[in-house]
Amino acid sequence: MSKGEDVDSIINGRRDGGSRTDRPARRGPSRAEAEAAVRTLIEWAGDDPEREGLRGTPGRFVRAYEDFFAGYREDPVDLLATTFEETAAYDEMIVLRDIRLESHCEHHLVPILGKAHIGYLPAGRVVGISKLARLVEVFAKRMQIQEALTAQIADTVQEVLKPRGVGVVIEAAHQCMTTRGIRKPGVSMVTSRMLGSFRDDPATRREFVSMIGSHRGSTHES
Ligand SMILES: [Zn+2]
Repeated sequence: MSKGEDVDSIINGRRDGGSRTDRPARRGPSRAEAEAAVRTLIEWAGDDPEREGLRGTPGRFVRAYEDFFAGYREDPVDLLATTFEETAAYDEMIVLRDIRLESHCEHHLVPILGKAHIGYLPAGRVVGISKLARLVEVFAKRMQIQEALTAQIADTVQEVLKPRGVGVVIEAAHQCMTTRGIRKPGVSMVTSRMLGSFRDDPATRREFVSMIGSHRGSTHES
């Protein structure tokens, strides 16, 4: 199978409506309706949306949402599938660590802030490190839970690059835990997804964990 056909089938397979629902169509309420909803929330919270300091807030809020949730307007498979390179020259583990992660929890729509680490053992296909960072961003800029975010990143690398193995570890603090509810500042959650040799080969897994830093202790699989 040529690279071209392969990439087309990956992209078309996704677009023709696989079971994933990670790319909702961009339709629905207008900007004016979205801003009206923000005014309702301001009033509901107990303030006056017409007072000086708040008058521009609905517009700013909606623009901020366009940025926070820009990931719905991009296809992560496309991102990798159109940029990977075929090379037999490199077969050692590639690790990108401490990728800044900014997302929003789907339960409270408040920030999840942390770091992502991605490693893979290429089997002919490699992608520039900036693309891996962008992949994290595309999934992060959606309404998320950390376990799903971790799995989506790993699964996409596996699906497109078809490496011998891939590992993704995310450590993040959830503002819904640190500033509301049970209020546990300083608590961070660690999730991981290991596929292929990262799952099956303890030596590969150890190498990955040591490359991303020895202070990472127990993780729970998602
Ligand atoms: Zn939450």
